[in-house]
This record gives sequence, C-alpha cells and structure tokens, in this order.
Amino acid sequence: MTSNEIIALADANLMPTYARFPVAFIRGEGARLFDAEDREYLDFSSGIGVNSIGYADEKWIAAVASQAGRLAHISNLFYTEPCTLLAARLNSLSGMSGAFFGNSGAEANEGMIKLARKYSFDKYGGGRSTIVTLENSFHGRTVATLEATGQERFHNFFMPFTGGFKYAEAGNIEDMEAKLGPDVCAVMIELIQGEGGVMPLEHDYVGKLTALCRERDILLLVDEVQTGVGRTGTFFAFQQYDILPDAVSFAKGIAGGLPLGGLLVNEKCAAVLGPGTHASTFGGNPICCSAALAVLDILDGDALLKVREKGAKLRAMIEEISSPIIAGVRGLGLMLGIQVRGIAHSELVKKLLDAGLVCLTAGSDVVRLMPPLTITDREIERGVIILADVLEELK
Ligand SMILES: *Cc1c(COP(=O)(O)O)cnc(C)c1O
Repeated sequence: MTSNEIIALADANLMPTYARFPVAFIRGEGARLFDAEDREYLDFSSGIGVNSIGYADEKWIAAVASQAGRLAHISNLFYTEPCTLLAARLNSLSGMSGAFFGNSGAEANEGMIKLARKYSFDKYGGGRSTIVTLENSFHGRTVATLEATGQERFHNFFMPFTGGFKYAEAGNIEDMEAKLGPDVCAVMIELIQGEGGVMPLEHDYVGKLTALCRERDILLLVDEVQTGVGRTGTFFAFQQYDILPDAVSFAKGIAGGLPLGGLLVNEKCAAVLGPGTHASTFGGNPICCSAALAVLDILDGDALLKVREKGAKLRAMIEEISSPIIAGVRGLGLMLGIQVRGIAHSELVKKLLDAGLVCLTAGSDVVRLMPPLTITDREIERGVIILADVLEELK
C-alpha cells in the first residue's frame, strides 16, 4: 500500500483518538525508519521510548522468533522460564525483591496503586488509602491513572473518577509534607516528568521526600515507565538519586517494541499481593519476556555508560547551536528536552519530521528527544545537523 492508501483507510476505520502525522512507516533499521515510499527518517523518538535498542536488531529478532516457535503463551497458572529469568535479572539490576508483569505502563501503575492500598489496609485497616502524586505528572490513561495524573485537563469527560488522589507541587517539600496526612498510604512520582516537559526532580527534594515517607511508613512509588530501562544512563533513574523505592513501574523500553510492563517491589512489599489479589492474562508472556531478555543482553556491559556519553554529546551539540528558538536544554542520558520559544513545539516537530528527523513534543513548549539507546555517534551528529538547519531556516 502507498502512504496515502494507508492513511485514507486508517482514517475511515480507526477511532480518531490520535492526531497522527501524515506518515506511514513500514520498516526500520537501527535508528532509521522508512515510510511506504522508502523515504528515510532518523529516529529521535523511539516510538515514545519503546524502541530502546532501535529497529530490527538481529539478536532480538532471533529471541522473539525462537520463542514464538516454542511456546508463545501459557497462562500464569503455570511456570515459564522467560518470565522467571526476566524477574531474576530485573531484581538483580535494581536491588528489588519481587516482580509482577503486565502489558503496559498504565497497567503497571495500577498495580502499584493496588499494592500501596493493600499494604496499608493489611497493616492499618481502612481510611488510609490516599495516594499523593505531583502536579504536572503523567501516569496513564486508565480511569485510575488518569486521576493519578496531576494535570486538570485529564480530569474531564470520564466522571466519576475513582477518588483517592491528592496532588503536591513538584519540588516543593513543604507542600508535600502538608499533603502527607493520616489518610495517605503512598506517594507516586516520576523522577523526570516525561510528558510534563522533561522536568527532572532535584536530588535534594527526592532525598527529603524519601526520608519523610520512611518516617511515616508511606510507600514511595516511582513511575519509571519512561525513565526506566537505561533511558537516563542507569538502568533505573532512581539509581542516580541514591534511593530504593518501595515499588517501581516500568514498561515502554523493556521489550524493545513488544507490549510488556510491570512493577518491582522491595522486600517490605514482596508478599503484599498474594494469590488471587492481582493478575493479568498476558502478563509475563514468554515471547515478550524473551524479547526483554534480549534487550537486557544488548544493554549489558558498558552500554549504559555509552548512553550517558551519547546523552552528554547530544546535549552539548544542541547547546552549541546558536538559535533564538532554543531557550534551554534539560534531561538525563538520552531523555532530553529542548525548551523552545517563538514557535509552537508541535510546529517545530512537524518541520523536523518534514526534514527527516522524528522528534516528540512534551509539556507546553518542549521538543523531546529520545533516540534509541543504541544510536551511533554519527547518527547523533546527523540529527543535530538536521535540527540546526531547520532552526536556521526559521530565523
Ligand atoms: C507512557 C507513560 C505511562 C503510560 O504508559 P502506557 O503504556 O501508555 O499505558 C505512564 N507513566 C509514564 C511516566 C509514561 O511516560
């Protein structure tokens, strides 16, 4: 099919939930994408952080194909090797003690919400079920995670929401302390607010928040759906904040393009969700878990050190571009946000796409860059040249 044929048939048959760009991709190689007319694009988006190891990696293909040919799925009433190995590796990479697998980020966060409420119910009984989240956060699109998302514009249309969430100003420890009343069982945070505009929390704030939570036996839940799996240069971003959360969620990049998400919990929470309290039919699916094991192999060794180096290089090169449109660059590793002025972020992303560079928006004025973690130095340089050229034309 041609791009135009795909687009017309899609628009006639899919629900219009996405404001899509008029581009139909049909294949990828490394950090490059190709549309139906074989036009090449450089990918600084990774399918919103999903294609952590780029496209069509041979080890990944072999892992997926061989598992598909052996055992694609069996229910969680039985044991399987891929999800067992994955749980063990994730616990050892993170210092956590237990894993639960689902299929998406929102589902992983729902699991953390259930974990926190049950932990508190078991220990303190009812009336201690509120979860404090941060203003400007993003936690997903299910009814509960929409309400957990600390942005007014998401709290619309779908009433009644579930209740049980309060919001605190990101970075303001006094405001947080004021919200941590006797009704609170947990705090859920992103260490770098992704959708909210690539906004990292301060080290000091996170340290104080962690101490407050410990003091009051309030669970600290970290949503690493976007920041996890090496994106920021450590396996989880919390490892750069010198904390161990009570639970951490992950999804996007974990299986290199297949749907897999989940949560890891520390020792204290390992037994909270007992038999019959939580489940997911596809969760821990052998194909997705084999894909994830291949991703972990590829991101092993010095790969995450390289993410930090490449992130620093990309950031420095962007900071060298002299353009009045760039108001600042922030982020960690290969999760960077360029704050722009004088042009809408969406308009700039559209112009970059036209020029062959796939980028993302975030917040109200940020162009977000999340290239595959395996992107080469040359590809980074090529992407920055496209960016600089587009900015130059806009002068
Ligand atoms: C993308 C994202 C989610 C939602 O993940 P889905 O897989 O779309 O459900 C939740 N939290 C954060 C921080 C995200 O970036």
